[in-house]
Amino acid sequence: MSSIKNFKLYINGEWVESASGETFPSDNPAKPKQILGFFQKGNKEDINKAVDAAEKAFQQWSQTPAPKRGSILLIAAQLLRENKETLAREMTMEMGKVLAESKGDVQEAIDITEYMAGEGRRLSGNTTPSELRKKFAMTIRMPIGICGLITPWNFPMAIPAWKIMSALICGNAVIFKPSSDTPFCATRLVKTLERAGLPRGVLNMVTGPGDTAGMTLVRHRKIRAISFTGHKDTGAYILKEAGLKRVGLEMGGKNGIIIMDDANLDLALDGVIWGGYGTTGQRCTAASRVIVHEKIKQKFETMLVNRVRRLKLGDGLKPDTDVGPLINKTAQEKSARYAQLGKDEGARLLIGGKKPKMDGFFFEPTLFTDCAVDMRIAQEEIFGPIVSIIPVKNFNEAIETINSIEYGLSSAIYTNDVSKAFEAITRIEAGLTYINSSTIGSEVHLPFGGIKNTGIGAREGGIEGINEFSEIKTVYIDYSGKLQRAQIDLD
Ligand code: NDP
Repeated sequence: MSSIKNFKLYINGEWVESASGETFPSDNPAKPKQILGFFQKGNKEDINKAVDAAEKAFQQWSQTPAPKRGSILLIAAQLLRENKETLAREMTMEMGKVLAESKGDVQEAIDITEYMAGEGRRLSGNTTPSELRKKFAMTIRMPIGICGLITPWNFPMAIPAWKIMSALICGNAVIFKPSSDTPFCATRLVKTLERAGLPRGVLNMVTGPGDTAGMTLVRHRKIRAISFTGHKDTGAYILKEAGLKRVGLEMGGKNGIIIMDDANLDLALDGVIWGGYGTTGQRCTAASRVIVHEKIKQKFETMLVNRVRRLKLGDGLKPDTDVGPLINKTAQEKSARYAQLGKDEGARLLIGGKKPKMDGFFFEPTLFTDCAVDMRIAQEEIFGPIVSIIPVKNFNEAIETINSIEYGLSSAIYTNDVSKAFEAITRIEAGLTYINSSTIGSEVHLPFGGIKNTGIGAREGGIEGINEFSEIKTVYIDYSGKLQRAQIDLD
C-alpha cells in the first residue's frame, strides 16, 4: 500500500493536500484490487481557496490577448499528442475502455484543444449597421468570470477538455471538479496545462465527492457559470441549487437506431455493435434501442446474435478484447437488475444477461428482442452493455418509437431511401442524427448536445462551445459629435 502514490489538489498553481485530511482510492475496474492512486477528498474549504485563487487570476487572464491564451493551448495540445499512448493506457487502467477507444478519447482532447487554440484568433462578435448616421454598432465577446466545471467519468479526458479549453480561451478562470471514478486522468490533463505554461490560479482542480466539493461549487456565489455533464438526476439537483448563475447541463440518453427494410444490413450490424457495446454501453450516445422494421427483424436478429456471441470480454489493454468492464460494482449491479427487469417485463432474452465468472466489474453483452416501446428497459438509461430490439411495422411507427423517450441526445437511421432519410432528420427529436452511421462519433468543430431531458442551455464544441463560456457585450460608438437619440432622431 505504501508505494501507491498520493495525488493532490491543484490550487493557485500549487499541488496541495485537502483541508479534509482525507483521501479516496481510484482502482482498475478490470482488476479492482489494483489501486492506481489515492486522491484528495476536497471539501468546502478547498473550493473556497480555489475560488479566491481564481478570482485573482481572472483579473490578468481575462485581459491576456486571446491569441496568446490560444498559444498556451497549442502547447498543451502538442504535449497531449506526445503523451497520447501513455495517457490512453492510463485511461484504460482507470476506467476500463479498450485501448483504441481510450486513444480516441485522448485524440478528442487534442482536437478540441487545437480547435479552441485557433478560436483565440477569432472569438468573433458582429458588426452591423447602426440606424443612425455616424454611429458604429458591434458586439464583442467577454468572459463570464469564474466557471465551475463538473464532469463524468466515461470520457475522462475528452469531456473535461471540451469544457476547460472552451472556458479558458474565452478568458474565464476555472475550477474543475472531475468524477471521483477518474481523478487520475483528470490530474494528467491538469498537469499538461500546467506544463504548457498556464498562469497560476487560472485553472484549479478540486477532486472529491460530488455532494460536498461539487455542491459547494454549484452554490458558490462567486461562481458565475456551472457547466455540468452527468446523470439527469444530478443535473436536475444542480439546476435547483445553483441560484442566479448560468447553468449548462448535458445529461443522459436512450438513443435509438432505426433500421428500415431497405437498409444495408451489414452496415447496420456494424453500427449497432459499435453503438450498443462500445465502451461497454457506457456512453451518453450509446445505441441501447434498435428499432427494426418487422420485414427484416428475424434476419437481423440472427446476424446480431452471431456477432454479439463473438464479442470478447476482458481487460481493455489486451489487444483481443472487444468489450471492457463496467466502471464499478454499482454499475455492474445496475446492469444485472435491468437484465432481470427485461425478463420480468416479458422481453425475450436472445443472449447474455449475466455477470460472467471473471474478476472485475464485467457484464455479458446482452440482447433483448420483442421489446414493447414502454418497457423500462426500452425507456430508461442503463449505461451498460444491454440492447433492446423493438420491432415496428413502418416508417411512421419507427419515428414515433424513437421519439417516445424523455431524452433527446443522439439517433440514427439506416435506409437507402433518401426521402425517408430527410424526413427522419426533421422529425427525430434529438440533438444529433446520423444517416447510415451509428449514434456516436462527434467532431469537435460541430456542436454536441441534446434536447428534452438530455440537455439544457448548452452545446459543446464548435462555436456553440464558445457561446456557453462567453457573454456578449453590445457596443455603440457615436462619432457624430451630437446627441443622437435612437428611435427618436430618425433622419
Ligand atoms: P453523475 O451525475 O453521477 O456524476 C457526474 C459528476 O457530477 C461527477 O463529477 C460527480 O461527482 C458530480 N456530482 C455528483 N453529485 C453531485 C452534486 N450533488 N453536486 C455537484 N456535483 C455532483 O454521472 P456519472 O459520472 O455517473 O456519468 C454518467 C452520466 O453522464 C450518464 O447519465 C451519461 O449519460 C451522462 N453523460 C452525458 C453526456 C452528454 O454529453 N450528454 C456525456 C457523457 C455522460 P462524483 O463522481 O464525486 O460523484
